[in-house]
Amino acid sequence: MFDGSADSPELREACGICGGVSLNPQMPYLTCFALYALQHRGQESAGIAVSGGEGQEIWLKRGMGLVSEVFPDTGELKQRRGKLAMGHVRYSHGEEGHHPENAQPLLFKYRHGQIAVAHNGLLLNGEQLRDELGKEGAIFQTNTDSELLAHLVARQGSADLEEALAAVVPRLEGAFAFVLTDGKRVFGLRDRHGFRPLSLAALRESGYFLASETCAFDTIRARFLRDVEPGELVMLGEDGIKSRQIMAAEKLSLCIFEFIYFARPDSNIHGINVHLARRELGRRLAREHPAEADIVSGVPDSSIAAASGYAEEAGLPYEMSLVKNRYIGRTFIQPTQQMREEGVDLKLNAVQKIVEGKRVVIVDDSIVRGTTSLKLVRMMRRAGAREVHLRISSPPVIASCRYGIDTPTAEELISAGRSNQEVVRRIGADSIGFLSPAGMLGAVGLPEDHLCQACFSGCYP
Ligand code: SF4
Repeated sequence: MFDGSADSPELREACGICGGVSLNPQMPYLTCFALYALQHRGQESAGIAVSGGEGQEIWLKRGMGLVSEVFPDTGELKQRRGKLAMGHVRYSHGEEGHHPENAQPLLFKYRHGQIAVAHNGLLLNGEQLRDELGKEGAIFQTNTDSELLAHLVARQGSADLEEALAAVVPRLEGAFAFVLTDGKRVFGLRDRHGFRPLSLAALRESGYFLASETCAFDTIRARFLRDVEPGELVMLGEDGIKSRQIMAAEKLSLCIFEFIYFARPDSNIHGINVHLARRELGRRLAREHPAEADIVSGVPDSSIAAASGYAEEAGLPYEMSLVKNRYIGRTFIQPTQQMREEGVDLKLNAVQKIVEGKRVVIVDDSIVRGTTSLKLVRMMRRAGAREVHLRISSPPVIASCRYGIDTPTAEELISAGRSNQEVVRRIGADSIGFLSPAGMLGAVGLPEDHLCQACFSGCYP
């Protein structure tokens, strides 16, 4: 599973970003609430940058841990008056590691003032840019792509951040969304393929807000306006919104895992509600892979919607046979395989009275390494399940992500180069069924060529 249902150590999302401008000086407070709503996208660090407007110094606070740990006292933010604010929650990607200096936003001073930068995703040409900048004498304090963009902006020379971004952003290749502020405006931009989501909303009183997911808008009672387009730069100021296409847009290649696992069920992405998409994934899974069973259960939390869809379609009772302990940190902080496996036991428990003597369908959103599925099946059997049928609401993951989602190498993917029969033997379930690519696309409802699904096909956009 993407075990993010049980909070995945197998595939990881890479950050949540937000930011906005308002005449209401409580933007820092609102931004903190928005970060709470985006917390599922990253729990490693959190930060907020604030400005009172033109001519004001940008204030920054960032640190390791959850939003509630970095900002334990919201009174501090309530008192910090500011019309512009931006925030970030972070998962580390690959070699970035769990280093405090990589917590974002990052704040820089250069000859034209200050800029704060935060991002979600990965620059594919980041190493090359770092190398070029290093040869020119750049000194790096972090290994983030946000710092690379700040260096490029500073070297571009324009005092106008919009012009600097328009000049340097086309040099960026990859899957990313950025938010920045120079203290006068808040900027949001999305890569030319739109791999990572970014949406725009109107604040209730006055002003505008950008966020990785629309659930953040609901939390601060902002009204969704639209998704930021691939290659678009959106600029929020006290005088309203300005938009500029700073990169030639390519075909949308939104990561399909936003629907399968990453995004919160109450978010809408390109007009599609995540919960409804997941329920439909489950319905189609039931049609494609029915099972002779007594009950259906989902792996909490991200597979619950798919499991309820499966149960509905199959005409079987939905039961809560797995309970998640919500007070254990994400298992990804446990680095070894053995510890990860132990982590699942800490997080999930089977309800013996429900599964005892039953033929159980367990619906999960995905299988990556298969270690979590193995533990789940064992757990159900220990609790007395007569049969355990695994149903997966996405196709087999056969390829690693090249666009910034931390996935295991192809050798570690249980479905890469193995038949479903081999997979089910390794996992120890009575049967397994994966949703077909066509079923997945039909459930999500976006055109096939608007989604990246390379993990399932090995065909990279
Ligand atoms: Fe998403 Fe997989 Fe594409 Fe990466 S390769 S963007 S995880 S679908």
